[in-house]
This record gives sequence, C-alpha cells and structure tokens, in this order.
Amino acid sequence: MSIEELARKNVRELTPYQSARRLGGKGDVWLNANEYPVAPEFQLTAQTFNRYPECQPVLVIERYAAYAGVSKEQVLVSRGADEGIELLIRAFCEPGKDAILFCPPTYGMYAVSAETFGVERRTVAAKEDWQLDLPAIAASLDNVKLIYACSPNNPTGNLLDPNDLRALLEMTKGKAIVAIDEAYIEFCPQASVVGWLKDYPHLVVLRTLSKAFALAGLRCGFTLANEEVIALLLKVIAPYPLSTPVADIAAQALSAEGVGVMRQRVAEIAANRSWLQQALQACACVEKVFSSESNYLLVRFFASSPVFKTLWDQGIILRDQNKQPGLSGCLRITIGTRNECQRVVDALNTLPGA
Ligand SMILES: *Cc1c(COP(=O)(O)O)cnc(C)c1O
Repeated sequence: MSIEELARKNVRELTPYQSARRLGGKGDVWLNANEYPVAPEFQLTAQTFNRYPECQPVLVIERYAAYAGVSKEQVLVSRGADEGIELLIRAFCEPGKDAILFCPPTYGMYAVSAETFGVERRTVAAKEDWQLDLPAIAASLDNVKLIYACSPNNPTGNLLDPNDLRALLEMTKGKAIVAIDEAYIEFCPQASVVGWLKDYPHLVVLRTLSKAFALAGLRCGFTLANEEVIALLLKVIAPYPLSTPVADIAAQALSAEGVGVMRQRVAEIAANRSWLQQALQACACVEKVFSSESNYLLVRFFASSPVFKTLWDQGIILRDQNKQPGLSGCLRITIGTRNECQRVVDALNTLPGA
C-alpha cells in the first residue's frame, strides 16, 4: 500500500483550508487576512521554559473572564478560535453519524474541521440579505449536533439578527450545540450574545485575540460556554495547548491597559473603514460596497478578476471571495492603515478604463 493509500479516506479527499498565508503573494500591503496592520510590542516576563506550561493559564482565564463578563468556569483558552471550532466537533460529533450545520457564505474552517474528522457538513444557504433561513434550518436538523453561526459574519461583514439567533437557540434546545463565532465582536461589542449564556445551556461563543487585539501571530482564542460544555472540551484539549510565551503575552494583552489599547485600535479601524467605504463608492469599477460591522469590507466589482490581479501585481493583496455562494464579483478588503486604504483607492482609480 502506498503512503497515500494508508491515509484515512476523508483525509485523502480533504482540501486543506486556503489560508491567506498558504495562498502566498508578494506584497507590501497585506489586506487579505483581517489582521491589524501594525505589530504591537510585548516583552516576555516569564522565563520558566524548563517547565511545562499550565493547561489553562489562570491569569489569562481570569482576565478574559473579567473582560467578557463571564465567570472563570465559563472560559476555555486554546490555540486560536480555530482550535475551539475543532474541539467542539471532537467533543460533540460522532464521525460517520452526526453532522454540523452552517450557513454559507461564511468562514471556511467549520467545513475543513468537520471534514478532517469525518463528520458530515450540512449547509443551509443564508438568505439574500445574509440572514439565517430559519425554516430551512429547522427542516435540516436531523443528526445535527453542532451549528456554527458567525456574527459579524466573515466575509460579508453583517451581524445576524438577534431575534433569529434566539429562535435558533429555542429550536435546538436539547438537540444541538449552537456556536456563535464572535471573532470580530470587538468592532460591535453591543451585539455580543455572551449575556445569553445564563438562558441557554447549549450556547457557545467563540472569541479570539487575532483580530481587534492585533495578535494573529500569537495563536490564542477563547471558547465561552456554561461549565458543563467547558468540562467536556477540557477532556479533549491537548495537555499543553498554550506555550509559556503565548500565555505571558495574552495576559498582558488582556490587562486593563491592553484592553484600552485594543479599544483605541477599534476606533481607528472604524474611522478608516468609513473613509474607505466612501472612497470605494466613488470608484467607477465598484458595483457595491456592503456595510460592515467588522475590520473588513466586502466589495462587489463589475470585473473582480482583473481588479484582484492588478492590485496583486502592485503588491496589494486582497482576498478573493468570488467563488463563495452568492458572492460572484466580490473581494474582501481588510481595513489597514489610512495610508494602505489610500493605496487601494489610488490603484483602483488608475485601473485601465477607470
Ligand atoms: C479569524 C477568524 C477565526 C480564527 O481565529 P484564530 O483565533 O486566529 O484561530 C475564527 N472565526 C472567524 C470568523 C474568523 O474570521
């Protein structure tokens, strides 16, 4: 048997997640991964590298709980929110039997994680306004153990209607876990559903330090849920998911000062976003700029492929969303510095035919 044949069938058939980094590109304006454009500075304070780290570093857990307004028992820290997505599948879905459900167009890792574990991926397309199609979801719940809903949604930028989220939680009581992915919630904190944990034992909220906290390279995310759910996830998590430097820097980022700096960043990005939105609307190549509650804009172009390619060749790297259901002609643009936003607009205004 070849090595390839030795691999599990679902792994042989797996298409890995096309992360921005894997897609490559040679740029100096990176607007394809929803990162913060400037590196924050940290010094390491812990030097005990001869020792294994804590599985769930107490200071990080305490600070995130205080920041999110939940109890320590309701917080799990992991190697990015992506690991949280995966732990839920490992804890709740029986391969070959159970299914996860999500509503495209949305974040790609739900599908990839499920596929890796041989768990069925069921999709219910979002409605034309990108809200949940509740009747269609209700009709598709057989064997569904886990539902992912992303709000604000990546890549569309819209919030999901809180009344729909409530209806979804009511519909799934005693049947499935509902994971609300709040990776971008710092850009619209009033919309968080974390306060609903007391009402719904099956609610899970996913968070990250990768976006508003400007720490995508740290790999640190959080799963918020009631104690019973967290206890199950702790059974399947690796014994040492966070290295000592990661825990050290995460704790600093979550200090009162760190949270204050994050809020300044959010205000700066929001200002750049409205500037870019207005400027894009005035570009001849732009068909529509969708409104956004996050640190990116989804833009429909009359001809997205030459736009993507021309900017790529100039070192301005955007994310092509053209292949996602309902997103033909759409590119996603991360909000960078004001100067980077200006570079995008200048490039669009000098396109052939602009
Ligand atoms: C970026 C992102 C994540 C992953 O966050 P990490 O903590 O970097 O793993 C999860 N969900 C959505 C919607 C994202 O955009």
